[in-house]
Amino acid sequence: MIIFDGKALALNIKSQVAESVKKLNKKLTLAVILIGNNPASEVYVRNKEKSCKDVGIDFELIRFSENCKQNDVIKKIKELNKKIEISGILVQLPIPNHLNEREILDTISAKKDVDCLTQENFGRLALGISDFAPCTASAVIEILKQSNIAIQGKKVVVVGRSALVGLPTQMLLTRNNATVTLCHSKTEKLKKITKKADILVVAIGKAKYITKKYVKKHSVVIDVGINRVDGKLCGDVDFENVKKKTHLITPVPGGVGQMTVAMLLKNILLLNS
Ligand code: NDP
Repeated sequence: MIIFDGKALALNIKSQVAESVKKLNKKLTLAVILIGNNPASEVYVRNKEKSCKDVGIDFELIRFSENCKQNDVIKKIKELNKKIEISGILVQLPIPNHLNEREILDTISAKKDVDCLTQENFGRLALGISDFAPCTASAVIEILKQSNIAIQGKKVVVVGRSALVGLPTQMLLTRNNATVTLCHSKTEKLKKITKKADILVVAIGKAKYITKKYVKKHSVVIDVGINRVDGKLCGDVDFENVKKKTHLITPVPGGVGQMTVAMLLKNILLLNS
């Protein structure tokens, strides 16, 4: 059984990005919009800031209060779109419910949409026009490829269909010739489906939901979930219960999360090279 080391691979990618940033003859700056005081978002934004700085990308944080107005956020994004010194724009999700998330994301210029969440960039991915993808979906593919896990022809089950994670992961896996089943909260007999998966990707946001009963022997389990239980981070997979049954499993923390930030840095570079 292999426990995937997200930290080591992310460090490797970061040093490649740092090299490429050095070779570019322009300065890169990521602008992050953070709305409200979600403690988890604060942590994720701090990690992104540190990672950007580690590879020589400047970082600008723009804060809005929890009860901010839609128009003020839109106005700010339009300003950032125009600034040539801003190379990428990211709105940290989730945002408060009173705001129209789709309108906010679609205001970001596709050329600066480092999360690949605008209709334009997401649509290009869906149509197979581009490989540019949301960071977590790219992270899942990178983990499989770097771990020498064959994707082509394999039965892959993705649990969770959000536009942020599950859906683009399914699209990228299909592009890599896997046979993918996409499951969600209305899926019947989930266990029966996941038990057939050569590769199981879980992104549901339910702590330790996936136990060994859901997992095929010697399969690959990619745990995207990040949950906090009694002050400790854990995934959607019951790691201790499942790990012995797998060929490879990603831990939480130290798995997909580390790789997602590394892929964000790669996306910033991709949009600016
Ligand atoms: P969402 O809440 O947007 O989506 C959750 C998905 O899981 C939905 O499609 C939902 O189905 C499905 N679901 C919920 N419960 C079940 C269940 N019991 N059985 C089957 N499907 C279920 O979450 P996100 O996709 O944004 O995030 C998922 C998890 O991944 C979270 O823990 C989040 O923190 C984490 N995350 C981790 C990242 C990383 O870098 N590691 C990056 C982004 C997110 P339905 O559509 O029917 O409601």
